[in-house]
Amino acid sequence: MAVVLENVTYSYNLDEMHRIDAVKNLSLRIKEGTFVALVGHNGSGKSTFAKLLNGLLLPTSGEVKIFGNSTLDGNKIYEIRKDVGMVFQNPDNQMIASIVEDDVAFGPENLGVEREEIKERVEWALSKVGMLEYRKHTPFKMSGGQKQRLAIAGVLAIKPKVLVLDESTAMLDPQGRSEVLKVAHELNREDGITVIHITHFMEEALDADRLIVMNDGQIAFDGKPREVFKHYEKLKEIKLAVPWETQMAISLKKVGLDMGSGIVNEEELVEKLCQLL
Ligand code: ADP
Ligand code: MG
Repeated sequence: MAVVLENVTYSYNLDEMHRIDAVKNLSLRIKEGTFVALVGHNGSGKSTFAKLLNGLLLPTSGEVKIFGNSTLDGNKIYEIRKDVGMVFQNPDNQMIASIVEDDVAFGPENLGVEREEIKERVEWALSKVGMLEYRKHTPFKMSGGQKQRLAIAGVLAIKPKVLVLDESTAMLDPQGRSEVLKVAHELNREDGITVIHITHFMEEALDADRLIVMNDGQIAFDGKPREVFKHYEKLKEIKLAVPWETQMAISLKKVGLDMGSGIVNEEELVEKLCQLL
């Protein structure tokens, strides 16, 4: 198992009297090679969950294991940090060097990787995210999507087995979002990297193998995206909207059209309507 959580609770202690249980008695297992989308409204505990995965936060109770290594085991934390790569929300906060290839080399340099190997890793990582031609450029003038792909390359150079994208598409325009999502899917498909894509855009969950919906520090739904989308009414109650096409199909069904179920995109909606007309 790539990721195992056993009865994990994480509490932020504000002072002696106040604490927030951001993750509550959470148990789950993620198989290696899975593309997981994790969705939930603001404050549902997604970032806390992400930080528990690489030991940035340690559980208040319960245990987090990455490929069998517990984050509570001080001897394993170094390995866990290498195994779980994290990319965050703000593309401007994640660049270190003023030249693209130096930026990507930073991680492996810190790990003491050999020069020749660093070179190979940088090339590999940049080509994986479609940025090799920009290796001598400065990252500062790039688009948000390019910066996030560069941030992914920086993480890839450490050779992670799990890639966590914590709202890494949230600040991007639609093009940037689709660029980043495409790279994440390719890394999952071609390199077998387990991806945990945290997002509040429900439609970005569509192509995931598994959709986990978090609410109030717990799992509200967990399943194939299309299955989870069927619970649109309950999703609405926890402030999440299914894709508009699904919503539209449901509205048409309510006025008597035989829309079937499971419509999640424009093509399927159009096809169904054409059949009916
Ligand atoms: P999400 O990423 O889904 O928005 P978070 O994991 O950031 O959720 O937050 C979960 C809960 O924990 C929220 O109630 C939030 O206010 C609280 N929280 C998050 N970070 C801290 C912190 N550093 N100190 C205190 N409370 C926090
Ligand atoms: Mg967050």
